[in-house]
Amino acid sequence: MKQTTSPGIQPASRDSGARSVQWPRPGLAPPILSALELAQLLQTSLELERILDLFSQAIQSAFPHDGLVYENTACGLHIHSGRLSRHSCSYHLTTEERDLGEIRFVRGRKFRDSELHQLENLLAGLVYPLRNALLYRLAVEAAQTDPLTGLHNRAALDRLLPRELARFQRGGQPLAMLVIDLDHFKKVNDTLGHSAGDEVLQAVARCLEQATRKSDMVFRSGGEEFVVLLHVAQAKHGVEAGERIRRALEDCDRIQEAAPGFLPTASIGLAIATDSDTPRTLFDRADQAMYAAKSAGRNRVHAAPTPR
Ligand code: GH3
Ligand code: MG
Ligand code: MG
Repeated sequence: MKQTTSPGIQPASRDSGARSVQWPRPGLAPPILSALELAQLLQTSLELERILDLFSQAIQSAFPHDGLVYENTACGLHIHSGRLSRHSCSYHLTTEERDLGEIRFVRGRKFRDSELHQLENLLAGLVYPLRNALLYRLAVEAAQTDPLTGLHNRAALDRLLPRELARFQRGGQPLAMLVIDLDHFKKVNDTLGHSAGDEVLQAVARCLEQATRKSDMVFRSGGEEFVVLLHVAQAKHGVEAGERIRRALEDCDRIQEAAPGFLPTASIGLAIATDSDTPRTLFDRADQAMYAAKSAGRNRVHAAPTPR
């Protein structure tokens, strides 16, 4: 455990002196009643943020604090709640088989030894709910990730599209959907083999990530079909984004290395969301626009007409 008096919250490194809390802790058990109550409370959710929130609220009277920070760099997690404060104490949490990351509590006045002792007992009750929430999160992520390319998969699209559409329909920025289908992709498999085809799909995924912004969402929606969701300042920027992606695929060295002699082009359908769209109608319009791009000769962007 370390107490610091830094002016804000500094991300602590692994070797920052944080004390380990491992559960079960030999010879030291938290008070039975409060441990049971805490366990019952923390069992009510598998969402990491919710569990940390519940824990923070539940221990507030025993261990007053202004905010907490949870960091797990291996899982890319940095969660904070409450507000920043002058003093902090941090703990490294582990089970016998797993590193769970670090939790840090902050407040305006120094932590007393007796309070820290109390906190250590309470933290022991957080370890397994936290472990379960991390495993749950990893399982959900795996179920929504395409194993070949590492992109979001169709299940992720089904989850995220309604959310993004609702965000736009509540008055957010225009939402553009691009359906991207590789042209004559079957030829790669037929002439160079399935592994070369797989490499092309991986190269396309990296190319799409490079040709889009961090805030855009890229999905492999099926075999050689991809979807990009992007919030744009104006509807016309959707066409520009589609064109940028089409050119990036055409010029992608990685794809050409994966399948020498293959001309990597794509037909792209674009639909701009309207207030009356459902996820289904938006996808169908972008998909139909993609087929229109195919019929018009491939390697082009076709924008769906805006419905009346
Ligand atoms: P079009 O220009 O009309 O889109 O022609 P296409 O050849 O791209 O389309 P078609 O639908 O005829 O063929 C798609 C091919 O994509 C057939 C399928 O074997 C291949 N495919 C789908 N998923 C994978 C995959 O995961 N790996 C590989 N290597 N090929 C795949
Ligand atoms: Mg296809
Ligand atoms: Mg195709």
